Amino acid sequence: MTDRQRRAQLLEALGIEQWVPREATSAAPVPAAAVPAAHDWEALRACVRDCTRCGLHAGRTQTVFGVGDPAAHWMIIGEAPGAEEDRQGEPFVGAAGQLLNAMLGAIELPRESVFIANVLKCRPPDNRDPQSEEVAQCLPYLHRQVALVQPKIILAFGRVAAQNLLGTQATLSSLRGTVHRFGPLNTPLIVTYHPAYLLRSPGEKRKAWEDLKFARRVYAELSAGA
Ligand code: URA
Repeated sequence: MTDRQRRAQLLEALGIEQWVPREATSAAPVPAAAVPAAHDWEALRACVRDCTRCGLHAGRTQTVFGVGDPAAHWMIIGEAPGAEEDRQGEPFVGAAGQLLNAMLGAIELPRESVFIANVLKCRPPDNRDPQSEEVAQCLPYLHRQVALVQPKIILAFGRVAAQNLLGTQATLSSLRGTVHRFGPLNTPLIVTYHPAYLLRSPGEKRKAWEDLKFARRVYAELSAGA
């Protein structure tokens, strides 16, 4: 366990993890056990399917690898599978998934045209937040997925995805409206609200729409400059 993970655990035990910023950094957490760079989709899929790196494997129906175009320009990253995703083996297929599809549709991105994955590949019990050790064990799979897809842009949905991808405890609202960078390819990453949150707080949908328009503008600028 790294010093950083130990510190996160301590803060979590004290019940103050969410409120105390770690070192200000935009770098992703160091993966606990890297996935071999030689892993292609098939090898990676098998690795995830058989994974027992953390305790979540014991409670899962199946892993939720990710879905979509393996050469997508847009990668969508959420938090972790919920009950329906655990049952079907596909990310964002429950109520939040319906809203996610509508959000993507609003910026003319059919679900099939993007690649959708989560920070965690297994469902946490009772949909609790992922624990730092679970994220540390699972994140290397996502890093490898990003390396294989090589998206032009990443959209992180929700606080948990944003904080874990960016290695920060900053609030979601403070992370919005900025082009962050993810991974060794420095992929542009934009943060917005999780659709499950928007279902509970529909008044925030307008802000999410601003984020989506911002992401679309950033993508257009990247494409024009490419
Ligand atoms: N919420 C997520 O973050 N991911 C899913 O796949 C489903 C719900």
